Amino acid sequence: MDTNQASRSQLERLRDVLPTIAQRATALDSKPGLPAKDIEDLAAAGLLVAPFPPSLGGSGWSGAAGFDALRLLGRTNLSLGRLYEGHVNAIRLILRHGTSDQQEGASVAALDGRLFGVWNTESPSLSLRLRDRILRGGKVLCSGAGLVERALVTARWSEADGEGQQMVLVPLPLSTPRADLSAWTPTGMRASATGSVDLEGVAVTPDMMIGARDAYQTQPDFSTGAWRFLAVHLGALEEVAELLRSHLTRTQRGGDPHQAARLGNAIAAAETARLWVQSAAALTEQDGADPDHVIAYVDLARGVVERAALDVMELANRSVGLQAFMQPNPLERLVRDLSTYLRQPGPDHALVRGAAAALRSRNRVGEMWQ
Ligand SMILES: Cc1cc2nc3c(=O)[nH]c(=O)nc-3n(C[C@H](O)[C@H](O)[C@H](O)COP(=O)(O)OP(=O)(O)OC[C@H]3O[C@@H](n4cnc5c(N)ncnc54)[C@H](O)[C@@H]3O)c2cc1C
Repeated sequence: MDTNQASRSQLERLRDVLPTIAQRATALDSKPGLPAKDIEDLAAAGLLVAPFPPSLGGSGWSGAAGFDALRLLGRTNLSLGRLYEGHVNAIRLILRHGTSDQQEGASVAALDGRLFGVWNTESPSLSLRLRDRILRGGKVLCSGAGLVERALVTARWSEADGEGQQMVLVPLPLSTPRADLSAWTPTGMRASATGSVDLEGVAVTPDMMIGARDAYQTQPDFSTGAWRFLAVHLGALEEVAELLRSHLTRTQRGGDPHQAARLGNAIAAAETARLWVQSAAALTEQDGADPDHVIAYVDLARGVVERAALDVMELANRSVGLQAFMQPNPLERLVRDLSTYLRQPGPDHALVRGAAAALRSRNRVGEMWQ
């Protein structure tokens, strides 16, 4: 089986488990708990190991399959999509910066059903330091806190060690609780189990250190990897547009010119987002592309997807009316989840960086991205 076939068959296995995952989504939102069963299902379908190359037991997610997997999860349960996106991100970083032993160790863990995550965010009151090979402090906004068993964290070296940031892959036995979800009280993405994690006292051995100092922020990957969360957002916004479409069909209100105009605008926005994210994914994964060019494209795609998602949610809410704000209407949760998950770091900065690249471009508008 070649890698394209392997990716496609992996995708089919994902499609098989999605209905069960969809059934659990409402309960996970209303009574927040850890989506452990969903992760078990993804593991059983081979999804946790899929991002590894075939030599390490995966399918490499070649071609469009990785894009589709993230998009399908976004349509089904955005919180699970976030967890899977973090898992893929961690594996990509290990494949890019880890030694062959570290890559092999990670693939064995993924094959065993262990979820990975990337935890970089800090707050003024909680940050992570690496001093004398011991972690001091912790991280905030860690998705999958209490569920992730392999956390790729960034820790700042002490002044004496020359400063800079180090990626550390921390094994987290589920039997030793370090997660605190008490401050995770958002309107949406409740099931993403995003909390703070106390990593005080974890001893760091050389095999836990991934890559060189500051490798985490290596460009273009640091910025262009955003296409993966955009694919998850895209799935959710497509689902909002689909729920609007099925509402208008069911209620036979689609012939009304106001309703038709809103649906038309929603479908167009969803397609605009799809074209941008698909191009961003293709450009990022293409060998030999100019890194500055790809970063600018992904930065601009971020703004396009955010705008499309905000528009589609507004159009759906206005067309469906009050029912869109009432449980158990699926739009109610989806809009809460998407509104929350759209908040990603530095959106203004991404747009400004994209504009600056356009100003530097030798090509005119319309020929800038070929
Ligand atoms: C569901 C969910 C799960 C998450 N999971 C993880 C995880 O697993 N690991 C992890 O590391 N993080 C995680 N995060 C955190 C995430 O990566 C971002 O840090 C967070 O979402 C940033 O949101 P923000 O709106 O506060 O961003 P900000 O970057 O603070 O942006 C808020 C606004 O301020 C503007 N702004 C930003 N910087 C400046 C500045 N210097 N001056 C003026 N204006 C500024 C922005 O453009 C924007 O308009 C998660 C977030 C969510 C929502």
